[in-house]
Amino acid sequence: MKGWGTMDQKIYDVAVIGAGPAGLTLAVYLGRAGHDYVLYEAGLPGGQLNNTEIIENYPGFSSIDASELTEKMKAHAEIWGGNPVYREITRIDKENELFRLESGAETVSFARCVVLATGLKPRNLGVEGEQTYKGKGISYCATCDGAFFRKKKVFVIGGGDSAVEEGLLLAGIADHVTIVHRRDQLRAVDILQKRAFEKANMDIVWDSVLDEICGNGKMVTHVKIRNVKTGEVNEAAADGVFIYVGHLPVADFLKMDVKKDNTGFFVTDERMETDVPGLFVAGDLRSKPVRQVANAVGDAATAAGGVSTYLIKHKG
Ligand code: NAP
Repeated sequence: MKGWGTMDQKIYDVAVIGAGPAGLTLAVYLGRAGHDYVLYEAGLPGGQLNNTEIIENYPGFSSIDASELTEKMKAHAEIWGGNPVYREITRIDKENELFRLESGAETVSFARCVVLATGLKPRNLGVEGEQTYKGKGISYCATCDGAFFRKKKVFVIGGGDSAVEEGLLLAGIADHVTIVHRRDQLRAVDILQKRAFEKANMDIVWDSVLDEICGNGKMVTHVKIRNVKTGEVNEAAADGVFIYVGHLPVADFLKMDVKKDNTGFFVTDERMETDVPGLFVAGDLRSKPVRQVANAVGDAATAAGGVSTYLIKHKG
């Protein structure tokens, strides 16, 4: 196979990329089905669960620490051979029905099928000061960085579930939390909205965006907030800015044309297969209207079935 190395590396039936809820579920299903698979993880297992404090909407657990849920999923996956291989996959391409997986300059394996379960990364806001003060008052994860803002004044940007949920978490730590949202209505689900409206140390600045995040060279000191209806700009003192303006799929390593929707999420059929035969997607990076742990797990169960069907057809 020209240009494909020595082929000394193992050929797996399936390579799963990412050990979040979708990847760990795939491990259980693929292991139980007797498939020869490998599960790669570049960082910590758990995916977005690592950026979350409590899960209240995963069936069977009325309220569970996200870290505990990760541990349970990980232990369950391990029963079925799902001990992650801790390698960052930096390139995947396909030739002659086989996918090649690389990490850095090294080809680490080949696979007949690949399931992408790499999840999402936070979107940048794209305002002045963001790059300068990242990690110096600007964060994209309250669960990770909230403790640095005890008794401080923080701003949360965005109106979705992430912004409101993380804002609520911050309200338990910081002195005051201000949500800045570009519309006059939150996108977050009703229960989160209700909790936000009831929080004494949280308020919402409506119809507004950040024009700039300013600081003293070392840390964030204030923000410039513009009302999009009136054009009025106000400055407000700020110790921290938490940005939750959506997420983007983590899939830069994929070196092939795959159909995506107009927001960059992967389009699949009902078996979770993309328009590249043998390439499946499960979890948050799939094009779909709702992103929850529960449906990441559901995607994975469906993808495992799709993979089995694909292998029967192509492997014999
Ligand atoms: P999201 O639902 O896409 O919300 C992004 C928010 O950022 C929206 O309110 C949007 O405003 C705002 N926004 C986007 N670009 C902006 C910009 N340039 N300037 C200012 N504001 C901007 O993203 P998410 O909250 O991260 O949630 C992602 C997915 O995960 C969703 O499906 C969500 O339901 C799910 N999730 C679920 C939970 C949970 O169930 N507990 C927790 C977190 C996330 P508009 O509203 O005006 O568009």
